This record gives sequence, structure tokens and C-alpha cells, in this order.
Amino acid sequence: MKRIRAYFYPIILFIVFEAVAVTLWLTKHNLFYLFNFSYIGLSISLGAVLYIRKYKYARRIVQLLVGLYMLVYLGLICRENMQIEGFWYYLFTGVFEAATIHYAIAKIFGPLLFGRGWCGYACWTAMVLDFLPYKVPSQPRKKIGWIRYVTFAASLFFVAALFVFKAADMERIMFLAFIIGNAAYYGTGILLAFLFKDNRAFCKYICPVTVFLKPMSYYSLIRVKCDREKCVNCGKCRRVCPMDVDVTDNSRKRRNGTECILCMECVKNCPKNAL
Ligand code: SF4
Ligand code: SF4
Ligand code: SF4
Repeated sequence: MKRIRAYFYPIILFIVFEAVAVTLWLTKHNLFYLFNFSYIGLSISLGAVLYIRKYKYARRIVQLLVGLYMLVYLGLICRENMQIEGFWYYLFTGVFEAATIHYAIAKIFGPLLFGRGWCGYACWTAMVLDFLPYKVPSQPRKKIGWIRYVTFAASLFFVAALFVFKAADMERIMFLAFIIGNAAYYGTGILLAFLFKDNRAFCKYICPVTVFLKPMSYYSLIRVKCDREKCVNCGKCRRVCPMDVDVTDNSRKRRNGTECILCMECVKNCPKNAL
């Protein structure tokens, strides 16, 4: 009984993903959804178990399990464009499949529950960026976050143009867009990381998906909170945060609050167990 209680959260996580898997399998009459969400649920639950057992690389393992699955299996083998262009594409065709379901769950409505958990545990772009040497930013934040709106608009106009001009073989174009888009994300992300000495610079300034993620995660149910009675204001949590969040402030308006990727570095490093 004690052991079950210790693993309460991984069990709940697995049940939630299984519920989504079975519901989509039965409603869409497609066995793929059972496999897909069961695999993701298992990967995330495994990560939660490893975290409880204090394994240092728990988050990175989930990132690799989910990120590689989405990039290699779904993207390259199944040729599903799971990037934002894929979302627009399925939205315009009126098909509630693949990228639209992925965006609805991971990036639009899911963040109301688990904030930017996607960014900490599943994104295949960050999966690579997190291998770079600048885990914590050493320079002040730049005021260039507006770039995300430009990339967001560019992705929308690109897909809209395909429909307006009735492009031939759109499936092939979307697959090429997936390859080129990913190459551009990795190239820009790595360049910015070295330029700004910050692995997550791409996430902070360029990524178009944050246009959805930031406002939705503002209302996130799951968030790191600070026990002000225990906190001694040592500032360690702010020094280890990759996203410059002031986690000692419990209000929703905390500094860079919508940037939290739930990586738990602050929790692990707080000397007073205040988080
Ligand atoms: S901000 Fe964008 S690139 Fe960064 S982890 Fe989130 S979805 Fe991935
Ligand atoms: S690390 Fe812990 S004790 Fe130090 S400021 Fe953060 S919450 Fe407070
Ligand atoms: S260190 Fe804490 S506040 Fe910063 S992103 Fe990770 S979980 Fe969020």
C-alpha cells in the first residue's frame, strides 16, 4: 500500500493517458491512437517513477523517448507533419487527426492542466538543445520575444498560401516543410544558444508554438509553488532556472511565469525544500 502511494502520480498519469488512448481508439476507430497515447503515457509515467527514485536524468529520458518517437517515427517514417504547419494544414482541411489532436492535447488545452510540460518533457527541438552547454542563462533576457509572432504568422501564411493557390501534391510539400522546418529550428536554436549562451534562447524568442503555450499555461493547474514559511530567499531556485522564472512568487503574474517548463531543477536545488 505504501509503495502504491509513493507512485500515485505516475499511476494517475498513466491512467489519464490510457483514458485518452482508449477514447480516441474507440471514437476514431483507429488502433494507432491506442498505441500512440499508451506509448507516450508509459514514457511519461516511467519518467515520473525515475524522478521519484531521484534518478538524475529522469526528464532527459522522457524527452528522448517521446521526442525521438515523434520526430523519427511519426515525422520521418509516418510522414506526419507535427510542426505548427501540420496543425494549420489539418485545420484547413477540416480533419481532426494527427497534428490537430496533438496540438489540442499537448499545446492548446493540455497546458491548462500541465502548463508547458510539453516543453520540458517531449519537444524534439528542445531534446537536442538541452544537450548544449548553456543549461542556465548567464546573460539578461533580450527584448526580442516579438519574433515568435513573426514566425507564427509566417507559418500560418505559408499554409494558407498553399490552399489559396491550390498547390499540387500538398502532402509532399508538407513532408518537405517538416524536414526543412526542423533543420531550420535546429540550426537557429543551436546558433542562438551559442550566441546568447543560453540553450533555451530559441524557446524564449523564436518558437511560434509559444503563442499558444504561453497564454494557456498562465492558467495551468499544475505549477511549482513556494512555501514562504520555509523560504530563506537564498535565490538558488532563480539561479538554476533555465527559463528565468521567479518561482518564489506564487502569483500567476510571477516573472516569466508562463515560461516554466516544469523541469524541477528549482525543486531539486532548494536547500530548504520550500518548493
Ligand atoms: S518553446 Fe517551442 S521549441 Fe521550446 S520546448 Fe517548447 S515547443 Fe519546443
Ligand atoms: S531556493 Fe528555496 S529557499 Fe532559496 S529562494 Fe528558492 S525557494 Fe527560497
Ligand atoms: S527551474 Fe523551476 S521555475 Fe524554472 S522552469 Fe524549471 S520548474 Fe519551472
